[in-house]
Amino acid sequence: MDGGSGNIQGILLKALQTTVVIGGGIVGASVAFHLARRGVQVTVIEADEPGHGASRVSYAWINGRDKSPYHYHELNRRSQDMWRRFVDELRADVGLVWGGEMRWTVTAEGAAELKARVAELQSWGYSIREMPVEEVGEMEPGVALGDATSVSYTESDGHVDPVRVANACLARVVELGGIVKTGEQVVGLARSGDAITRVRTDRNEYACDSVVIAAGAKTPDLASMAGLHVQNTHSPGATVVTSVLQAPLFNSIIAMHTPRDAAGVLLNMRQLTDGRVMVHGGTHDGSLGDNSLEDAEMLLDETARYLPVTENLNVEEVRRALRPMPPDGFPVIGRLPTAPNVYVTYTHSGVTLAPMIGEMAALEITSGAEVELLTPYRPGRFT
Ligand SMILES: Cc1cc2nc3c(=O)[nH]c(=O)nc-3n(C[C@H](O)[C@H](O)[C@H](O)COP(=O)(O)OP(=O)(O)OC[C@H]3O[C@@H](n4cnc5c(N)ncnc54)[C@H](O)[C@@H]3O)c2cc1C
Repeated sequence: MDGGSGNIQGILLKALQTTVVIGGGIVGASVAFHLARRGVQVTVIEADEPGHGASRVSYAWINGRDKSPYHYHELNRRSQDMWRRFVDELRADVGLVWGGEMRWTVTAEGAAELKARVAELQSWGYSIREMPVEEVGEMEPGVALGDATSVSYTESDGHVDPVRVANACLARVVELGGIVKTGEQVVGLARSGDAITRVRTDRNEYACDSVVIAAGAKTPDLASMAGLHVQNTHSPGATVVTSVLQAPLFNSIIAMHTPRDAAGVLLNMRQLTDGRVMVHGGTHDGSLGDNSLEDAEMLLDETARYLPVTENLNVEEVRRALRPMPPDGFPVIGRLPTAPNVYVTYTHSGVTLAPMIGEMAALEITSGAEVELLTPYRPGRFT
């Protein structure tokens, strides 16, 4: 019996001997790593440097906190729980840090909303709780809370350095006999019947048995060459990175969100492992698109209102990217109905989801299985 299923897998593997993965961001690199571990001959083609798309810009908060409805929360939550094993398998320091997220409200309406969300997440089994305001002073004495009406704290959230993750995955791909091409852009896909059989770049042409499109916000351009037409929702994002803070930003948490019901800009903060602080939010995040340095400096002034320890920091860098944002906001994962040897991994929240998408994509590609958890996210919903 075992021999039988082994044979089918063997035939599938043989049929998928050479897989070209387009895109070396955190998602594509994770898929490539998991495929290489399963014995697939992988070639990764990355137009820039690994992780230098949305992954490098990302706030990189690993969470299920802001994910709804339940099926999407569950997907993120399960991926969150896979992160430790993923990093063990990478055998590299990728800056993975745990400690939880804290936020609070300043109005009665805001408090009612926060309490309702805490109750919902608790009913989904998420490790979140309301925290008495007095407890914040003990846990995070450096946070200037002001007159808070309610506080929430999640224990299970973390963050990571997505560029280090992408590089670690690709180093393992090479160790496992795969090929990584950087600075090379895919410009065409050649079809024979139902299948894509060659990937054309601005320099080369690669014969392949299957293709993974993991090109972030550019995925729609490539997927359209294989017959799937979706449009990336325009969603520019930015993060501001400061000079090094020679002290811990927080005592115990790893991410903080300023009150969503307060006047002014909404900010998220975290500390990178080298001491620099990353600020996400304000007019850099979304449609207002203010590109000035003054704007980034204004964000730092706002940050210092909540975290006085940051008041002497300077803006070192402003990172910008378009988010990969499918039209309905949910991931697009799976084979294309228009070209079944092409597999797409296109998603927001790709930092949280990288272990799950990498492992499940490799499982589906090499075994022919259809993982039930991925049912709501199939590309077929756009055809
Ligand atoms: C401001 C901001 C904040 C975010 N915050 C969070 C967060 O807190 N938590 C979270 O989980 N997610 C967050 N995200 C989303 C997350 O960062 C992305 O979902 C994730 O990085 C996507 O990874 P990716 O590998 O799919 O795409 P990318 O990192 O964009 O990688 C795609 C790669 O494909 C390459 N490529 C494109 N076209 C071609 C081509 N033709 N040929 C070859 N290569 C090509 C690009 O060069 C790029 O390197 C945030 C994103 C932004 C922008």
